[in-house]
Amino acid sequence: LGEKLRKSIKKLAKMPIVDEKVVKEVIKDLQRALIQADVNVKLVFKLSKSIEKRALKEEPPKGITPKEHVIKIVYEELTKLLGKKSYKLKIDKKPYKILFVGLQGSGKTTTVAKLAHYLRLKGYNSAVVCTDTWRTAAYDQLKQLTEEINVPMYGDPNEDNPIRLAKEGLNKFKNYDVILFDTAGRHKNEKELLDEMEMLSKEINPDEIILVIDGTIGQQAKSQAKAFSERVKIGSIIVTKLDGSAKGGGALSAVSEVGAPIKFIGTGEKIDDLEEFDPARFMSRLLGMGDIKSLIEKFERVVEEEDKISETVDTMLSGKFTLKDLKTQFETMKKMGPLKQILNMLPLAGNIPKNFSKITEDKIKKYCVIMDSMTEEELENPRIIKYSRVKRIARGAGVRNEDVRELLRYYKTTKKALKGFERRKLGGPIQSILK
Ligand code: GDP
Ligand code: MG
Repeated sequence: LGEKLRKSIKKLAKMPIVDEKVVKEVIKDLQRALIQADVNVKLVFKLSKSIEKRALKEEPPKGITPKEHVIKIVYEELTKLLGKKSYKLKIDKKPYKILFVGLQGSGKTTTVAKLAHYLRLKGYNSAVVCTDTWRTAAYDQLKQLTEEINVPMYGDPNEDNPIRLAKEGLNKFKNYDVILFDTAGRHKNEKELLDEMEMLSKEINPDEIILVIDGTIGQQAKSQAKAFSERVKIGSIIVTKLDGSAKGGGALSAVSEVGAPIKFIGTGEKIDDLEEFDPARFMSRLLGMGDIKSLIEKFERVVEEEDKISETVDTMLSGKFTLKDLKTQFETMKKMGPLKQILNMLPLAGNIPKNFSKITEDKIKKYCVIMDSMTEEELENPRIIKYSRVKRIARGAGVRNEDVRELLRYYKTTKKALKGFERRKLGGPIQSILK
């Protein structure tokens, strides 16, 4: 899945311009990649529809190229496919009892050991109980895995009653932080397996039941998850074997439909091949975009700043322009560059008064220091700043009286320019022009 998605995103990144044809092409590539990854066709169709609609309709904010915008939309919609949030395993009582369920071969036993190891790194003491009496090798396998990580394990290869094993294990490990119960994955038939899981669940009264699903089965994961969730209360899901599986996308999107969150994914056979599942991080890695996060951040910053500029310009043009507004304006300028440039980003470009461009960065810094020495009242109502106040402010800011007067002059000119600007150039309701 990753390779294909990466390719179509790369293709998009190489396009000189983004137009309807390009968007459609990218969507076609995405569809192909997703369907090959066994993602449900209906889901793929829904996803492409919303990407197309958003990509062609939504206006990219200023400072974001149309291309970046489309990449972001693709990324967001794909992330939705996997569920938006990430869910953590919370150990909130002692002992925290976790019952593992899942079909034979799904990776339960391996995952039990991986999770015990993970929990230890988090500072929790865990113990493992083997209730799989169906497979003779089950006991040995778990014993070997837990010995490697030095986690106590209880089981009895000669016992054939899983309920009794669960009860004894529970009793034996009641002083541990976490008890992990491994179970059988095969029985004479599916009904008997599910019956056993239900009985175990009643006996153990687990704090969380984790369903382990093999990621290589693709979309089938959904019916499997459903079958289990109809009999026991699935609290979370771990999807395994996502290392190198072509069908991982299908399994992940399928189980995210079941309702229980995916908390971890298995990415290999080794003990530390277990990852907390974060849909957003998973998707950006899949898309091969280490920097998609910085793109999103840039996006958010630009939108936030656009809002702020809009507000500043609103007050500037409303005639109520105080020193406080000038200060906000300076702060924005420090971040975004000269006001002239900022105003150019707004729909009133082209009619900018000349004196706007005449201020240097050094001046801005100095003016900000001066304004820091003013009282709130002075900032709100600069008219009250007479000679004695000028002297006090200058002393406080460590500048000459002349500098304070210069700032006041700059403020007055700007205010006047803004007023003229409003009357001469804009006329009509300002709001409608700015929006
Ligand atoms: P169980 O029958 O559900 O207990 O499954 P096991 O834990 O015995 O695992 C079945 C096989 O899948 C074993 O060979 C494991 O090494 C392998 N396996 C489990 N998890 C992963 C994984 O995340 N990646 C890979 N590549 N193999 C895994
Ligand atoms: Mg097993």
